[in-house]
Amino acid sequence: MAIISDDENFSKKVKKNVLVKPEVNEYDKTFENNIRPKSFDSYIGQTNLKETLKISIEAAKKRETPLDHILFYGPPGLGKTTLAGVIAQETGVSIKITSAPSLERPRDIIGILMSLKAGEILFIDEIHRLNKLAEEILYSAMEDFCLDMTTGKSQSVKTMRVPLVKFTMIGATTKAGDLSSPLRDRFGLIHRLEFYTKEELIQVVKRTASILNIKITDDGAAEIASRSRGTPRIANRLVKRVGDFAIVKFDGVITEEVAKKSLETLDIDNMGLNSTDRTLLRLIIEKYDGGPVGIETLSAALGEDIKTLEDVCEPYLLQTGFLQRTPRGRKVSPEAMRYLGYKPLGASQQTLF
Ligand code: ADP
Repeated sequence: MAIISDDENFSKKVKKNVLVKPEVNEYDKTFENNIRPKSFDSYIGQTNLKETLKISIEAAKKRETPLDHILFYGPPGLGKTTLAGVIAQETGVSIKITSAPSLERPRDIIGILMSLKAGEILFIDEIHRLNKLAEEILYSAMEDFCLDMTTGKSQSVKTMRVPLVKFTMIGATTKAGDLSSPLRDRFGLIHRLEFYTKEELIQVVKRTASILNIKITDDGAAEIASRSRGTPRIANRLVKRVGDFAIVKFDGVITEEVAKKSLETLDIDNMGLNSTDRTLLRLIIEKYDGGPVGIETLSAALGEDIKTLEDVCEPYLLQTGFLQRTPRGRKVSPEAMRYLGYKPLGASQQTLF
């Protein structure tokens, strides 16, 4: 039974499924900035991490020194940027936000470092994408708060140290493993952000609905929370879209029924999987006997780049246990086979219905 669509159709489907992609575009940025929590009290979940950070902030205040450099890692949409803003707010300092791809030339990073005010936070998103030169400039900036600059050419080369103000660097990455060890070693605190529980996501959903003035019942919030892939960014997007459905097609309130019907229309299933996830799993089951299969092969077969598969689809599929990473490639679990209506491995590869 051929369930796999051809590559072209698949790519179209992928583009349609932006709702459950944890990445951001320009429209999202404005929407997100309006609903971003600004304090530890309004920042939901990540309890242990918040406690650790509160202690570090308190200690830094008592010592009257800037906070240690911090690295946050974890899948997109879990609140790394938001947390950097919360830290700035709670510490009472300002924050400059940038991302590694916009620091291409050495003068970009030098310019930003020299413009920092004492104690200010520099937040660099996607820090694993920093180029080598920018990274080397950061070594002395982070460690000794100075820039080692060279002037002149060949025999007349001179090195000089330019002092910088003391600052705190917060880096965020989806791929901690891609950071070089000299850079990683310069962070005093390294923390992983966890996927959110359903209860935490219910709070996120209710908070966002209230900011957006959308009426929502407890059941409605629970329905959206359970389909949000453990990710606040997705929960927020779904609140907005389901809110639109509620106003246009129903009586304006997000109830369980409204949430279910809207999310079905948006092609988001009970577990928050979209057609991209399902097609990926089905491809491994049907064409590669459940795996293992290399990510390069999957990427070519699906017409989707490896980065999107690794950063967007996989983290949640790994978290649910539907997908497993092995040294020889990706494998689908028996749970995923059952969920998609296949007989688990060992039995024939036919669908149950
Ligand atoms: P990341 O930097 O990890 O990709 P963001 O910090 O940009 O994620 O978070 C995405 C959105 O999710 C934010 O706009 C924010 O409103 C929401 N969000 C993230 N974490 C939380 C949280 N702990 N509590 C409430 N909302 C959150």
